Amino acid sequence: SWAHVPQGPPDAILGVTDAFKKDQHPKKMNLGVGAYRDDKGKPCVLNAVRKAEEMILKDKLDKEYLPITGLASFTKEAALLAYGKDSEPLGEGRIAVTQSISGTGALRIGGTFLNRFYQHNKKIFVPTPTWGNHHAVFRDSGLEVGQYRYYDKLTNGLDFNGFVEDIQNAPKNSIFLLHACAHNPTGVDPTPQQWDQLSKIFKERNHFTFFDMAYQGFASGDTDRDAYAIRKFVSDGHRLCLSQSFAKNMGLYAERVGSFSIISDNPKEKAAIDSQLKILIRPMYSNPPVNGSRIASYVLSNPELKKEWLGEVKTMADRIITMRDKLKKHLVQDFESKHNWNHITDQIGMFCYTGLKPKQVERLTNDFHVYLTKDGRISIAGISSHNVKYLAEAIHEVTK
Ligand code: PMP
Repeated sequence: SWAHVPQGPPDAILGVTDAFKKDQHPKKMNLGVGAYRDDKGKPCVLNAVRKAEEMILKDKLDKEYLPITGLASFTKEAALLAYGKDSEPLGEGRIAVTQSISGTGALRIGGTFLNRFYQHNKKIFVPTPTWGNHHAVFRDSGLEVGQYRYYDKLTNGLDFNGFVEDIQNAPKNSIFLLHACAHNPTGVDPTPQQWDQLSKIFKERNHFTFFDMAYQGFASGDTDRDAYAIRKFVSDGHRLCLSQSFAKNMGLYAERVGSFSIISDNPKEKAAIDSQLKILIRPMYSNPPVNGSRIASYVLSNPELKKEWLGEVKTMADRIITMRDKLKKHLVQDFESKHNWNHITDQIGMFCYTGLKPKQVERLTNDFHVYLTKDGRISIAGISSHNVKYLAEAIHEVTK
């Protein structure tokens, strides 16, 4: 019998969507899940993606297995997008890259690889707070999970001094998980100058950095700009590893398109890492799915499609920025809220950490049919010009 299997709790983020679906109120809003919606509140498939799909259909490709590390034309383009065409380690052939089951799968491959091969310790430090799944992914990879200070509740901004102190106080050669841009859930990123300082301190302490880039292009609308931190760390000589996701920036959520990469010292090391990535992946899922990575590779390797895609990324990022502006304006000007709401526009990316307390979140849901996670995080992508004022009013009502 399975009577000893305990009922587990629902997923903190996906559970919000379940509750939302049950609600019949016409004004209900789902600000829980981080998926982009257009101004009509509808999920959208990018034009560049639709065109790539048409090309793929015309090309009548087969459905043979991919190699264990995935579609080479995709992983090549993914690495180029992250590291940039002038990247030294990329040019020198010393970055090992593998396709992954989106960003989550990349994190899991990375966690498992570090557990097997990182020589100094088996502990990874993640920011407080961070995307909740980081804890579970790294724990299930066999790593111990520690935390470093990141978000300052008083300012709704970055606790830079706390962050720096925790980097300095961690044992040398510690592993740190960093959000490359558009930090989830807070929307708070270091400035380029702060990244420069951080890179130097990480170097002094010989720490190893694991970058999670789930939102390249979503923070600023510019994929190069959003790669600033990674490229700076790489040019400062960090041997970092990286998880990439194309869920958000290409709208390929359910296609599960991502990649994991790690920088080594030379092509010989890279080849050894490649071989170990294969050994690690083979018993997990054998080889990755082809459809999504094909779409991404068509988009990224065709100059016209790539240009169209970059334009669409910017459109999505800009809509989010506009919604932030509107939400703040309604709160401050229309409803004359006495609170400081500057963090709504200071924070970037898909999420805003509102600073709402659990009781206020509960009221938002119960009284106003607005669904969000208990930590007060809202997905700006779920707001549209039709409901932004309603949301502002609701937030004002629960924070009076
Ligand atoms: N990292 C962060 C910080 C995220 O927010 C997400 C998506 N919510 C992911 C990784 C991974 O998402 P996916 O597996 O869908 O690519």
